[in-house]
Amino acid sequence: MTKTRFAPSPTGNLHVGNIRTALHNFLLARKRGGRFMLRIDDTDAARSEERFVEGIRRDLAWLGMVPDGEERQSARQDLYEQAFARLLADGRIYRAYETAQELELKRKIQLGRGRPPIYDRAALDLTEADHAARLAEGVHPHWRFRLDHGSPIEWTDAIRGPVRFDPALLSDPVVRRADNSWLYMLPSAVDDIEMGITDVLRGEDHVSNTAVQIQMFEALGAAPPAFAHEALLVGSEGKLSKRLGSLGVEELRASGIEPMAVLSLLARLGSSQPVEPIASMQVLVDSFDLASFGRAPARFDEADLERLNAQILHGLDYSTVKDRLPDGMDEAGWLAVRPNLEKLADAQDWWQIVTGPVVTPELDAEDRAYLAEALPMLEWSADPWRDWTGQLKEATGRKGKTLFLPLRLALTGRTSGPDMAQILPLIGEQAARERLERAAAA
Ligand code: GLU
Repeated sequence: MTKTRFAPSPTGNLHVGNIRTALHNFLLARKRGGRFMLRIDDTDAARSEERFVEGIRRDLAWLGMVPDGEERQSARQDLYEQAFARLLADGRIYRAYETAQELELKRKIQLGRGRPPIYDRAALDLTEADHAARLAEGVHPHWRFRLDHGSPIEWTDAIRGPVRFDPALLSDPVVRRADNSWLYMLPSAVDDIEMGITDVLRGEDHVSNTAVQIQMFEALGAAPPAFAHEALLVGSEGKLSKRLGSLGVEELRASGIEPMAVLSLLARLGSSQPVEPIASMQVLVDSFDLASFGRAPARFDEADLERLNAQILHGLDYSTVKDRLPDGMDEAGWLAVRPNLEKLADAQDWWQIVTGPVVTPELDAEDRAYLAEALPMLEWSADPWRDWTGQLKEATGRKGKTLFLPLRLALTGRTSGPDMAQILPLIGEQAARERLERAAAA
């Protein structure tokens, strides 16, 4: 059974890039009838905060992506210790002491000589006496995973196709700091094994981590999961923008964006499938296809989100939104204002043209005379607007804007808005006559 995971670090709020990764993992799991797990990567105790963990859960819930289970790395230290002990016993982990400055100097020298800036494994030459001497000075080692240079690391990426790395061109990664805290690389591989993750789907910034982690899986006696690396999200101007790195669920929600608009955009962005308003998660699940994603960066444009949001609203059923509508708005009211909405909150504004009060417009003498003539002709038929304006057209010779606009203005106080044929019955006969009289007299 397919099991995916979304593994955010709780060091900040989720932004659209993270949400996209979460969504694709969710859709992949659902599509295959599998499970979607949340893994909180909180090994960095200094930067992880509980409020961000809660924020992640809340954001996923708002988007309709409740995980099938949750794990926290801070509660799984024993597993990492066991894996560490095993790799140490097998000679796959070694002690090193270089400081950040020393490593930086080595890198500069290598680059100066036109060599790839990878760790030179100098620490492998240290003797037990050398280690004992460091310890006597109170200097503790950090720990590196020794890559096997024997053969290339290869996998077939579900998005990038065949990928191949020469391990000799990668640095042996530091897996544990001198203070015994863990870095990302080993705990993630341990968790993927222990949690039974079958598919790791993440950003292409992790491609070289995957090469290293494949060797970790093998060193720990596990078959690596399937991997897919997505092109990163960029702003509409084509760069990884600051805005994208901070735009999160809270802000989207506050600005009136519907969850389905976010999901519709992020599910398809970067794929060959069209970005279109999709009203249900199930449709996104059914149409999700990893093979439709390409290697070109996916462009995120907030204008697309606004457009999708309006389109989603225009198709929403009354039963779906009724709890979020202004007091008293019934199905006819919803259907009348729905096509004019960009945000759901606009419904309140448009509903006011039904409930009033409306601002009485100042019309010129000619239009006031027109209203005075029109008023007695208004009959409260089954379709009052159409019948009335049909008659007015014949009686006055007015047409188009000159026929309709003074009536709309008098009845709603606005120059544009929802279809008057739908709005007039909602305003009701008495209020309509009062508004027309007031405008005719003003
Ligand atoms: N916590 C890591 C990150 O947010 C997880 C990467 C992964 O999916 O393995 O980048």
